[in-house]
Amino acid sequence: MTRQIGTWVRWGLITVVTICLSSCATRPVMMPSRPSGHAAAWPQAIGPRHDITHMIIPGETLYRLSKMYDVSAQDILSRNGLKGPAGLKMGRTITIPHAAPLKEVIPVFPSRKWKYIIVHHSASDKDNAMSLFNTHLRRGFDGTGYDFIIDNGTKGTSAGHVDATPRWIAQKDGAHCKASDMNTKAIGICLVGNFSQERVPESQLSALVHLVNYLRQYYNIPEKNILGHSQVPGARTECPGKLFPWKEFERRLRNP
Ligand SMILES: [Zn+2]
Repeated sequence: MTRQIGTWVRWGLITVVTICLSSCATRPVMMPSRPSGHAAAWPQAIGPRHDITHMIIPGETLYRLSKMYDVSAQDILSRNGLKGPAGLKMGRTITIPHAAPLKEVIPVFPSRKWKYIIVHHSASDKDNAMSLFNTHLRRGFDGTGYDFIIDNGTKGTSAGHVDATPRWIAQKDGAHCKASDMNTKAIGICLVGNFSQERVPESQLSALVHLVNYLRQYYNIPEKNILGHSQVPGARTECPGKLFPWKEFERRLRNP
């Protein structure tokens, strides 16, 4: 599969869309020779550039880092004394020189596999892509069970930032919802937090609306197939929590 993905990259069939500042455009910036699917406006922070530290999460690439922070791959490598991307081991903290405010970069892959989107919560107060990866490894999964994680600002993350997991990058079946065979056909999105005990923060809800709208347009997923884990027939769980604001979420999906 890895080799197959490498081939897709070479042939430009992986579509990586950077959602541009809403002030500069309402359609995505297209990467040269990387044809895009549909667009979604994704409001971004505007601010000065700084040197920042960044921990490499599972599945993160030099290309993704370069797009997220608008810094050349070569500048990232040289600042950290690295000869190539092999030095970017997950868990390692690096410096991103002169980084722009974090930009959301959502990779999508042409596929007929994805028919549903399932929303989860982590049922934990503090987590990030690295800790969830390790937790799921300990549970016997082959890495993070979800496809996307929406951070809540704990464990060094930026609230509302979207991480794509190695499972999504490899387009593997999920490990997030066995009920109704959803692992084979549903994109799993996990919001870090416990929404049986607290409300979903605006930063995460807004990111979820933009991510779901982007994915459902790209994969042509009908609104009725956007479900919470607990709404899947056969699932016995409260996930994504009894305080999850379904009505507001659905209203904002239609009017982002
Ligand atoms: Zn769940």
